Parts: sequence; structure tokens; C-alpha cells
Amino acid sequence: NQQILLDNRPQGEATAGNFRLVASDTPALQDGQVLVRHHYLSLDPYMRGRMNEGKSYAACQSLGQVMIGGTVGEVAESRHPAWAVGDAVVGMGGWQEYSVVDGNAPGLLRKVDTSHVPLSYYLGAVGMPGVTAWYGLVQIIDPKPGETLVVSAASGAVGSAFGALAKARGCRVVGIAGGPDKCHYVTDELGFDACIDHRAHGDLKSMAAALKEACPDGIDGHFENVGGHILDAVLLRANAFARVALCGMIAGYDGQPLPLHNPALILINRMKIEGFIVSEQMQVWPQALAELGALVASGRLRPRESIAQGLAAAPEAFLGLLKGKNFGKQLVKLI
Ligand code: NDP
Repeated sequence: NQQILLDNRPQGEATAGNFRLVASDTPALQDGQVLVRHHYLSLDPYMRGRMNEGKSYAACQSLGQVMIGGTVGEVAESRHPAWAVGDAVVGMGGWQEYSVVDGNAPGLLRKVDTSHVPLSYYLGAVGMPGVTAWYGLVQIIDPKPGETLVVSAASGAVGSAFGALAKARGCRVVGIAGGPDKCHYVTDELGFDACIDHRAHGDLKSMAAALKEACPDGIDGHFENVGGHILDAVLLRANAFARVALCGMIAGYDGQPLPLHNPALILINRMKIEGFIVSEQMQVWPQALAELGALVASGRLRPRESIAQGLAAAPEAFLGLLKGKNFGKQLVKLI
């Protein structure tokens, strides 16, 4: 069983040297346990925060332990009556080829149906990232048909799901993404109304001008994944009583400072800005997953995936995710 451990903590930007690949035997199962063979490992921006020491909403990753992470796979061996060999499952198996799971612990493993939704999508559009988009849209932004919504990191796992959910509610949806290829994909394949290239609009003035053109009626709702000058520009273009779901600030995860330049705009526009952590909102998961599964099955949400091959490729793929090298949901294919 190959595993990737957190070997040491980043000093500034994370590097491949922070990780260590090791091999060990898969342990023999005890009664009640299940052995899962992972087909795909999910790479997610939150993992960067776990590599740091210090206070956050989640405990930091211990040194010398297998990196935390979502996985999909199949039951390879079972000593629990509720789990059969061959069951397709989603769990938190971590950066390794196999994991041993307590079959009695609630929520650790979930069976999934792969007849209409491919297995890997349970780590993306019909998994944690999709529910994240759903929560911010439905519970925080709470849009009305015809309103203008903006989402940053629009081509990614969360952003693409957000677009489909918002279009289904009759909104005008404007994405922000890095580079012309991603922007074309966002409008042509995901069906957004417009997309702004943040690389071509790398400062506040230029981004504000691009938002003015793409959002002639102002912005009623915003889903923030990035932070920095994008959030500043959105505040400048926000309508009265606009709502912002503060989901992520990836531009600052690798140590970069992210000031908010004019917080007075929140008052002037009487805005609501609310942060959230999707894993603390388990009550919405069934409803959100049902809607996301239906959007995928009907072809109204066609997410893209970036797939790295083999566990050893995980560190570089993860570092690339923090720099926008992924195009769609970043996965590692293990078999
Ligand atoms: P994505 O698939 O969107 O991949 C990350 C993307 O972020 C990159 O492709 C890149 O897109 C963009 N990006 C990376 N670095 C920068 C940068 N310096 N400046 C601007 N953009 C950058 O990831 P996810 O969909 O998994 O996650 C999106 C966001 O959602 C993250 O901020 C994540 O932390 C957050 N999140 C929050 C959760 C919560 O519970 N609050 C749960 C899940 C995710 P591009 O090339 O287009 O710039």
C-alpha cells in the first residue's frame, strides 16, 4: 500500500519536499472493518491550510501521517455485513492506495450509485465541491430569477457546479477564470452568460471595468473562491443589499497577504457577507446531492476533470492546483 505522508511543514510556498512517499503492507482486517481500494483521490485547496501549524477551522495535519483527502473506490474485503466486496464507496481514505475503515462508524463511508453518474464525479460535482456551491447559492445568496451573480474560479469544481445551479434558477451568471481557454469553456460549455479573464485584468481598476461591462445591471450575488483584487472589484460593482458567499480565498493559501481595500463599501451597499464551511452543514447534503445528481444525469452540468496518473503524481498535481494549472476538478487516478 503506497502512501504519501506530510513530512515537514511549508516555509512560505508549499513544495514537493514537504511530502514523502512510503510503502507498507495493508493491515489484516478485524471484525467490523472494511478494506477499500481507492480508484481516485481528490485534491482540494483546503489541504494547503491543513499543512500549516496554527489555528484554523479544522485541526492541522500531523507530521508523519498520511495526508487527509476524499477518495472513491470499491470495497476490496469486508468483515462487516453491511458492506459487500465490489460496493462503490466514497470516503476520506487519504493519499494512499487502500484504507481500512470501521464499517460501524456513521458517515465514514457512503455507498454510491454509478449507473448514471461516473464514480469520480462523487468527488466533484456530485460530492463535496458541488454541495459547497449549492450551500453558498441557496442558503446565503438566495437568488431571485433575473438577478446577476458572479463566481470566481468559475471553471473549477465548485465554480462549474455553481453556474449550473444558478442557471437552473433563472439567473444571469458571470464567471471569472484564468486565461482564454478556461473562459471559453465557462461560456461555451458550461453555459455562463459571460466570463472575465482575471489574468488579462490583473489589477483592481481593470477588473472593475470588466465587471462593469459584464454586469450592466450591477451584481446582486457573489460567490467568492479567490479573494484579493477580485473581491475588491465586486464590492465596487455590488448593488444595494447584495449577498456574498465567502467560500474560499485561494489567492492567499500559499502565504500571500490578501487585504480588503475598502470595507466601507459593505456598509454603503448594505451588503451581507457570510463565510461557511460545507462540512459543518451536513443537513443540506442530501437535498443538494439530489439536485446535483439530476443536473449531471440530464447533461445540464458537464464538469471537466484534470486527472494525474498514480499516487506519486499527487504532490505536483496539488501544487499545480494552487497555481491554477488544473482545468476542472483535480483528481489522482490510482488504478
Ligand atoms: P478549483 O477546481 O476551482 O481549483 C482551484 C482554482 O483556483 C484554480 O484552477 C484557479 O483557477 C484558481 N486559483 C488558484 N490560484 C489562484 C490565484 N492565486 N488567483 C486566482 N485564482 C487562483 O478548486 P475547488 O473548486 O475545489 O475550490 C474552489 C474554492 O472553494 C477554493 O477557494 C476552496 O478553498 C473553496 N472551498 C471551500 C469550501 C468551504 O466549505 N468553504 C469547500 C470546498 C472548497 P483559475 O485558473 O481560473 O484562476
